[in-house]
Amino acid sequence: MNEGNLIDPRETKLAGSFIEQIIIDDLAAGKNDGRVHTRFPPEPNGYLHIGHAKAICLDFGMAQKYGGKCNLRFDDTNPVKEEVEYIDSIKEDIRWLGFDWEDREYYASDYFGKLYDFAVDLIKKGLAYVDDQPAAVISSQKGTPTQPGTESPFRGRSPEENLDLFERMNHGEFEEGSRVLRARIDMASPNMHMRDPIIYRIIKTAHHRTGESWKVYPMYDFAHGQCDYFEGITHSLCTLEFEVHRPLYDWLIDQLKTDDYRPRQIEFNRLNLTYTMMSKRKLLELVQEGLVSGWDDPRMPTLCGLRRRGYTPESIRKFVDLIGYTKVEAINDVSLLEHAVRDDLNLRTPRVFAVLNPLKVVITNYPEGKTENVELINNPEDESMGSRTIPFSRELYIEQEDFMENPPHKFFRLAPGKEVRLKGAYIIKCTGFEKDAAGNVTEVRCTYDPETRSGASLADRKVKATLHWVSAEHAIDAEVRLYDRLFNTEDPAGQKDEDYRNFLNPDSLKVLRGCKAEPSLATARPLDKFQFQRLGYFCVDPDSTSNNLVFNRTVGLRDSWAKLNK
Ligand code: ATP
Ligand code: MG
Repeated sequence: MNEGNLIDPRETKLAGSFIEQIIIDDLAAGKNDGRVHTRFPPEPNGYLHIGHAKAICLDFGMAQKYGGKCNLRFDDTNPVKEEVEYIDSIKEDIRWLGFDWEDREYYASDYFGKLYDFAVDLIKKGLAYVDDQPAAVISSQKGTPTQPGTESPFRGRSPEENLDLFERMNHGEFEEGSRVLRARIDMASPNMHMRDPIIYRIIKTAHHRTGESWKVYPMYDFAHGQCDYFEGITHSLCTLEFEVHRPLYDWLIDQLKTDDYRPRQIEFNRLNLTYTMMSKRKLLELVQEGLVSGWDDPRMPTLCGLRRRGYTPESIRKFVDLIGYTKVEAINDVSLLEHAVRDDLNLRTPRVFAVLNPLKVVITNYPEGKTENVELINNPEDESMGSRTIPFSRELYIEQEDFMENPPHKFFRLAPGKEVRLKGAYIIKCTGFEKDAAGNVTEVRCTYDPETRSGASLADRKVKATLHWVSAEHAIDAEVRLYDRLFNTEDPAGQKDEDYRNFLNPDSLKVLRGCKAEPSLATARPLDKFQFQRLGYFCVDPDSTSNNLVFNRTVGLRDSWAKLNK
């Protein structure tokens, strides 16, 4: 992976369509009877991450656009690592992203019988043999890219003997690892994958769908293309690391095909994102070692993590669209993803007031016990979202950082003798403050000018800052979880000789308790999304209870001050 190679979305706009161009050309040439049929083939050994979203958007997107179909096919060829929990989560996440496989939910294990028959066929044609050597020996005979491999002493076995052994392998007569079935292709091929690849191995773990029926399981390369063929897939889209497998994919299809139809494998670049990693194995380690709270920890690049963080499916699809599809491995800047979600949430979220680090403000000339309802519009980008009222009273909370006892020259917020506007309400002037024994400011005293209520004649009087606030008596309590990047280096999994765990950011989660939110949030439900004015976009966490509302910060506002002061 080229770490410095950040993708500029403008440059990928055209390159992104190279696969689409192939599909258009195939349709024009009348290939496969004008059908477009793709598949998304997850292995159910983990939760989907945003890299998978890139594949899903292409597989389902191309089918949709060209009147075709896309199958969901679980690549469940390894019973040791696979679990039903993962199958359920994968389906939930694809639906959430906005795609539908209708009734076409398939499993590689649906084809174990056909795959076995195909292997038997190859044996009969002298194109596959049982090798009794241990994996380490087989691997040591592979040769190098420039030196041919060494032929196995079992390569010359007769079809009869191979058939007998393969059957007995499947009946459980032999131990795991003691024998494999290999395709008999070419030990001198310049492509290492063609040097008699292993196509079946013995596994004695029960399979989540086929139970104890099978003791031999096909390798990925032997299952994938064949399943494509059985399902009538026309365009088998996968990531670039499979480019070197393509000759084997095609060789196997050649042995299987009976007419003009053949599936075609096309590779595109994986999605890699800065400050995170996409390996399911490593993500599983993070979960198992308790380094995150689970697959759906809002810091994870998983789809369920992003969902819990407050990402919308639209923002993820938009991001995938922006980065496009190319033939060059690269790493995408996570800030582009953040940009996509910010853009999306800007349009769809209501604005609300919440104070993360509350500082009490007492307006000494405001009548005790009085409450006024202040009207605020919910979203300046979208009038149809209407407005709401929030209560204003004598005691309020503002952010601690909006007050300074001894402000520097350029500090325009609240300070002794200074004026600010409380958004939607009045201009107030600081007349004093109180401190505790430790020297922390605990309360600010102000007076308000009744003539300056927003909308009134003096409402335009110049002040340099506008603050958000909540009424102390009416505010509801909230917990707010602020997230930073999970890793503190751009490519944590790509560091030579250093474990990615060494790059975990110790400050990736900061929990704030005792935050104060405007009362309209009392009815918020898990996954509801808001813009906390001046603070960023926030999403209600499913951990929320009736007396503890929990918010996750999805992403900050790029430039809260510029917006507020214009
Ligand atoms: P493993 O590391 O276990 O091989 P994988 O990430 O390749 O896992 P699969 O479940 O095999 O996961 O992937 C399903 C599909 O998603 C494949 O077609 C794969 O090419 C694609 N895919 C996986 N990771 C990415 C990624 N980072 N970017 C784009 N596509 C991806
Ligand atoms: Mg894979």
